[in-house]
Amino acid sequence: MFDYNAPAGLLKDRVILVTGAGDGIGRACALSCAAHGASVVLVGRTLSKLEEVYDEIEAAGHPQPAICPLNLETAVEKDFDDLADQLFDTFGKLDGLVHNAGLLGPRTPLDSVKTEAWLQLMQVNVNAPFVLTKAMMPLLRAAPDASVVFVSSSVGRKGRAYWGPYAVSKFALEGLMQVFADEQDGTSTIRANSINPGATRTSMRAAAYPGEAPEKNPEPAEIMPVFLYLLGPDSKTINGQALDAQ
Ligand code: NAP
Repeated sequence: MFDYNAPAGLLKDRVILVTGAGDGIGRACALSCAAHGASVVLVGRTLSKLEEVYDEIEAAGHPQPAICPLNLETAVEKDFDDLADQLFDTFGKLDGLVHNAGLLGPRTPLDSVKTEAWLQLMQVNVNAPFVLTKAMMPLLRAAPDASVVFVSSSVGRKGRAYWGPYAVSKFALEGLMQVFADEQDGTSTIRANSINPGATRTSMRAAAYPGEAPEKNPEPAEIMPVFLYLLGPDSKTINGQALDAQ
């Protein structure tokens, strides 16, 4: 596991947006950020799941989160701009942006992937993080040391047969991270990095490996040290890096 022991108040006074915050790794990230003092913006497509996370954070007495339902597949640029306006009015800045939401999509040979499924996956896994990052730039610039985190995968760093558009989308995300990080280098205090979570006990993992015993893999909460490291001030000088959670 990534070796980092986050101090209790690590993210105090920080505002952190997490996509796909209602389930799996995104849910754990939202809860962990809130527990370390951040005001968390919960973005996702299933309102009931976001509400459960909201209630859990509130019951624990952590800073009040914000719920922003958004379907990354159907959202248009104006929806992202409206979200940015709303966050500007409420918080005035964004210290952390975690691009976590993702689709697994078809795991078949490329020549049998339906074009429609390919386009749908690229919309959620690549296009939405691009448009969301663009919309959030004024908010990220308003924070003293903003951190953008792209949640990638091992198949986004080395291609593997039958991982289809999912693998290609994660390569694109790594590319987006690298180009963006290089542009920010020396021109702003914004940094961008990627995380490969490694095998983690979520519904996406169960869908990818239906025969696997779920207990074999760590819970999402166990892989949080690298997320906290990248979102807190200790990683201020880390930019353009591809990190592993495990
Ligand atoms: P998960 O349990 O399936 O959670 C995915 C999250 O993304 C859900 O909250 C889901 O919302 C959200 N989402 C999907 N489509 C969306 C859309 N159109 N609009 C808004 N939100 C959407 O998966 P996970 O395992 O936690 O995966 C999180 C990230 O880690 C993904 O980027 C994945 O590729 C990456 N990853 C995971 C593993 C692993 O072993 N688990 C390994 C490598 C990389 P709903 O709850 O509404 O469905």
